Formats: sequence, structure tokens, C-alpha cells
Amino acid sequence: MFENKNDKQTPLSELGEFALIDHLTKQFEITQKSTVTSIGDDAAVLEFSDKQIVVSTDLLIEGVHFDLSYMPLEHLGYKAVVVNLSDVCAMNAVASQITVSIAVSNRFPLEALEALYSGIAKAAKRYNIDVVGGDTTSSTRGMIISITAIGSAVAEHIVKRSGAKPNDLLVVTGDLGGAYLGLQVLEREKEVFKVNPQNQPDLEPYTYLVERQLKPEARNDIISLFKALEVIPTSMIDISDGLSSELLHLCKSSEVGCDIYEDKIPLDPQMISTCEEFNVDSTTIAINGGEDYELLFTIDQGDFDKIKGNPNLTVIGFIKESSAGAHLITRSDTRIPIEAKGWKVFNA
Ligand code: ADP
Ligand code: MG
Repeated sequence: MFENKNDKQTPLSELGEFALIDHLTKQFEITQKSTVTSIGDDAAVLEFSDKQIVVSTDLLIEGVHFDLSYMPLEHLGYKAVVVNLSDVCAMNAVASQITVSIAVSNRFPLEALEALYSGIAKAAKRYNIDVVGGDTTSSTRGMIISITAIGSAVAEHIVKRSGAKPNDLLVVTGDLGGAYLGLQVLEREKEVFKVNPQNQPDLEPYTYLVERQLKPEARNDIISLFKALEVIPTSMIDISDGLSSELLHLCKSSEVGCDIYEDKIPLDPQMISTCEEFNVDSTTIAINGGEDYELLFTIDQGDFDKIKGNPNLTVIGFIKESSAGAHLITRSDTRIPIEAKGWKVFNA
């Protein structure tokens, strides 16, 4: 996992900017009806008829948001797309295009960018989106990637952070804390590798956690599920920085409070056993660990029957008046105020 498998190293200076753009982008096909003009002109042209347009952008900086010593470039490309699509999902919209901008230093050969773009292409295919433009430039140090995602939905389907009402149910998709623990596993292996490069890491017991970190998925399946179940959440946010901080964002935007129950928070068995091994509290990790890219949303109690029993969805609590504040009810029935920890405190 930590080896550089590419023996061939073609300096970017051999191609020049335009040949490089051409080389990296020629693999992209147009599949979306809404894409009128794609890569190759001064701007892309899109047409969405009666829909509202959702736009979201993210900036990823080497050494701040990713570490190439354990993040293979193909995974990085995939993940950079996914984190943007997750934001579009969080609006209950369907993504259809992205633009990709990169800045790279001369430390990176062509093969590195090919790997990055292969990950981008895989994500584009998996999520059925067109890559319609971007920008390419040099940086003095390291790699910078910025992706912008464009999606659409009819106005009545768009869900904001601000619509939660007292008595609404709080629901999360999937399970939480896995991506953060996956990062801990990878960082531990990196330290072992520094001491003894011959030591092959055994990641087998942590496959799910490492995959949650290196190859997260955006929950566009849930957006389709909402349509099928005829559910429109009253509010929604994606969980990129950790449940506690996203809960507080949602409560603040909606001007409400909430109670969530410790024993309801969905955890994967591998996450629980690894927390025991690392001697950390699984609830703390699930609440404060980031990068799970699951969705946190609220629904009217009247919609409960529509989501009841779905294995992808877990009711973790409910919305209260703003004056009640935001609390976690522990297994021993203690009320703990929720604080915005976010996952970065763990790296301090
Ligand atoms: P401009 O001079 O107008 O910025 P460029 O020469 O940078 O144009 O880009 C040419 C075309 O290639 C444009 O359609 C642009 O959107 C696209 N493009 C440039 N860089 C990238 C990239 N890294 N990924 C995808 N498309 C790109
Ligand atoms: Mg340009």
C-alpha cells in the first residue's frame, strides 16, 4: 500500500499545459442530457429546464486535507469527487456535472496525474456525472485539487439545513466513526513502515475501516430512496466533520434543540472491536470522528412509517425547542450537552 508501483516517471514539462489537459481529459464521455458544451471551449454550457441548480465546491490541499504517503492518488481522485457529490446529496438534489482544477509541483510526474484522473473517472462513471471543465496550473510545493459539483432538483424537493421543527425525528444513514478509525489504522501503519520498510502491514482486520477512509461513497442511493418512499426530509446536512458538529449546524440553522440517544447511534462491529483494541470510547469516535459522508436529516413524525425498518436508516433522536439545547442521553441515562468537537481535535 505504501509502495510506488510506477517505475515510469514522465516529467510534466515534456507535455506542456495543453497537451497535458488533452491527455488527462480525453477519457471523459458526455452522458448527461443537461450537458450542452463540455471541455474544450472557454466555458461549459448546461441546460436544466424547470429545475433549480445546486452548486458546491471544495478545496483539498496536500498536507492539510490529504497525505500522499498513505492515500494512493487514484483513491484521492475518487474521494475528491465523492466529498462534493455528498454536498449535493445533502440538498436532496442529483449531481450531474463536475469541474476539476489542479495545481501541481514538478515533483509529480505524468503518471501521478494519470492515477489521480483514473480515480476521478471512476467516480464520474459510478455516479453518472460528466466532467465538463476545470483548470490546470503549477504550484511551488505539493498538490492542490478543487472540485465543483453541479446538480439539480425541482424546487419543492430541495432540502436545507434550516427546516427542522420540534418533534421531528433525527435520522442518520449508514454507520458512524469508521472513516476516522480507518485514518488511525493507516497512521499507525505509516509509523511502523517508517521504522521498518520491509514490514508489510496487515490491514485485513480493518478492511471496512480503511475503505471508509480511502474510498468513501456519497449517499445518492438515499436520495433515490427518498423519491421511492415519497419522503422529503424537513432538513438535511452531510456528516463530513462529525455528528456532533453537524447536529449543532442543523440545530442552529433551524433554530431548534435536540436529544440524541447513545444506544441508538449506528456502529459497525469492526468499528467497535477496533475501538476496544485502540482503547478509545466508540461513542466519542462516532460522534466526533469525521469523513463518514453519511447523511443526517429530520423527518416529520407522520413519515416514520415510510422509513421504519429500512436497514440504511436509523432514528437517533428527535428535535426539541431551541431553549432545550442539544443533548446526548447516555446508556446510563445521563444528559450530556453536545459540543462541536469535530474530528480535527484528535489530530492536534
Ligand atoms: P482557459 O485558458 O480558458 O482557462 P484552458 O486552456 O485552461 O482554458 O482549458 C481548456 C479546456 O480544458 C477548458 O474547457 C477547461 O475547462 C478544460 N480544463 C482545463 N484543465 C482541466 C482539468 N484539470 N480537468 C478538466 N478539464 C480541464
Ligand atoms: Mg485555464
